[in-house]
Amino acid sequence: MDAQQIEDIGDAHISTNSETPLRNDAFVLSQDEKIAQIQEHFAQIMQTLGLDLTDDSLSGTPYRFAKMYVKELFYGLDPAMCPKLSTFDNKYGFRKMVVEKDIALDSSCEHHFLPIVGHAHVAYIPKEKVIGLSKINRLVDYYAHRPQVQERLCIQIRKKLQMVLDTQDVLVMITAKHMCVSSRGIKDKNSSTTTIDYGGVFQKAEVRQEFHSSLEA
Ligand SMILES: [Zn+2]
Repeated sequence: MDAQQIEDIGDAHISTNSETPLRNDAFVLSQDEKIAQIQEHFAQIMQTLGLDLTDDSLSGTPYRFAKMYVKELFYGLDPAMCPKLSTFDNKYGFRKMVVEKDIALDSSCEHHFLPIVGHAHVAYIPKEKVIGLSKINRLVDYYAHRPQVQERLCIQIRKKLQMVLDTQDVLVMITAKHMCVSSRGIKDKNSSTTTIDYGGVFQKAEVRQEFHSSLEA
């Protein structure tokens, strides 16, 4: 790819795959080994930028940066970190829409490694299984903590919930601001991006309308 093609893909913010593109050897290194390697690489970047790493304020930055990447921002790359999504029998026979709204979302754009900040709304209509509501928040948090594309984030949450809840009737909506749009490139401070992904009965416009009305409640 030449430099122009690289720019074009980043600015379009598109992804072709609903799976995070991970290599097979992604978890061969331990967390501590990853931190040590990233620390070294980031020190190189700072060096290249001309920064004085012997300065008291800067000397710890490569380590802080590496630890933040591995343990805080991108812990969701590791499938072992996926929250336990225990479900319960739908004993009440509740067959109406459940909406978990305004779930805080912190992610990072995989094209620029800059923050994506916003919120998610998740809706489902139970069949035989229901799930603890906080599990939905945890699942959003888990998938958000990877280098992401907003569309893919929506799809990954939707698919996982469909599997766990054993129903296609799941909707995921995300509205977020992308720092790579507000702080560089077009530098638009006001725009945000909304993505919606759904399956099952949410394909019907009137069911989606009920979801949208519930957001205003
Ligand atoms: Zn970006």
